[in-house]
Amino acid sequence: MAKDKIQAIRGMCDMLPKDAPYWETFAKTAVDVAREYGYMQIRTPILEQTRLFKRGIGEVTDIVEKEMYSFVDSLNGDELTMRPENTASVVRACIEHNLIYDGPKRLWYMGPMFRHERPQRGRFRQFYQFGVEGIGFKGPDVDAEQLLLTKRIWERLGIKDVHLELNCLGQADERKAYRDELIRYFEAHKDQLDDDAQRRLYTNPLRILDTKNPEMKELVEKAPVLTDFLGEGSKKFLASLEKLLKAGGIDFVINPRLVRGLDYYNLTVYEWITPRLGAQGTICGGGRYDPLIGMLGGKDAPACGFAMGIERILDLMREEGIVPKYKECDAYIVWSGPNCDIYAQTVAEKLRDAGIKAILNANGGKFAVQMKRADGSGADYAIIIGESELSESTVNIKPLRENLPDYGNQLEKPVDAAIEYLKAARHNQ
Ligand code: ATP
Ligand code: MG
Repeated sequence: MAKDKIQAIRGMCDMLPKDAPYWETFAKTAVDVAREYGYMQIRTPILEQTRLFKRGIGEVTDIVEKEMYSFVDSLNGDELTMRPENTASVVRACIEHNLIYDGPKRLWYMGPMFRHERPQRGRFRQFYQFGVEGIGFKGPDVDAEQLLLTKRIWERLGIKDVHLELNCLGQADERKAYRDELIRYFEAHKDQLDDDAQRRLYTNPLRILDTKNPEMKELVEKAPVLTDFLGEGSKKFLASLEKLLKAGGIDFVINPRLVRGLDYYNLTVYEWITPRLGAQGTICGGGRYDPLIGMLGGKDAPACGFAMGIERILDLMREEGIVPKYKECDAYIVWSGPNCDIYAQTVAEKLRDAGIKAILNANGGKFAVQMKRADGSGADYAIIIGESELSESTVNIKPLRENLPDYGNQLEKPVDAAIEYLKAARHNQ
């Protein structure tokens, strides 16, 4: 009986080899840049106790209300959640291991996050984030540093069509006064609120400002703005950050309606947005979360960070026509002959010792078939080995691409000389 085919879970995608050049280019760039700024990697488990996210993200946020993959472990009754984001986990780890006892820490992470959302372009149920956290820094210098870091990543990837929106959320008491005013305003226009907004009116009214509903656009535009409720300290913080960003060559617009979904943000919030990806145009969001460490049971310490959505960034790279420089294979080794297997393997290992990406033909095949595989491998050179090469301790190099200097010829060389030739060829490219 034929077995039915098992498919991946909706909203959870396979990363196929054709996407590898984009993924690897992004990952290498992001990690290189983070390290250039002195950030070190942290890796936390994908599963955490559910209450970490309830407390660390906030009960009345979209994520905790309706997006979390939470379940009871049937083996021991633990209440667990697949991480929907990484900040709460990183802070948990910092507290648990007393990481900042000897001073603040600059950290980066990369990995999968899980949210039960409606799958669509740029919105998946398993997606990947790259992010940084600066734990123990009061800012605004490190807020600016992290924005410079993101800008450097866009530049190095070649991404152009993205801009920064910035806001200052002030401190909790300032937000409380604003929140009361906002509730009064929306109450006076209750008939114009959609279901989502009605639901959020008393739990998370700031989030109404984030609405994607065009019918509420005017109402939201006329709403009171948080900027008018900021105290001197917050205004000064924002002004210093603006000065640092301008000096660093970062253009931005102040968007007083940018609030972001999470409860624990204060002062700085921002989003990098592109017009090229439709409704899912935010490729990076971040800000300051000074209250979080205390909320999770640690000794109070200021902190800031951001998270970027890797799938959206790769999508944007494609939209902008960016083609990653990527070579799957430098040399494909074509070989046949009764005693040539060990020789071919030895040559292949020597090439790899020299940093040359080499594929050794497997599954046999006639010369023509192997040459076809060499061509399909993307390699610039076929390295041909037969019994005569074995007896002479040489190889034959055959350039496969028209733009290469010795195209049309075949060069017989001792193995070491062949390696030098391939290294020099790569250097000249
Ligand atoms: P959105 O408003 O698009 O739902 P968010 O505010 O929920 O975003 P954050 O929690 O700030 O997103 O996560 C940071 C980044 O991670 C986002 O800017 C986005 O690039 C990416 N991201 C968030 N949710 C998803 C998802 N479901 N699929 C793919 N990427 C996502
Ligand atoms: Mg979301």
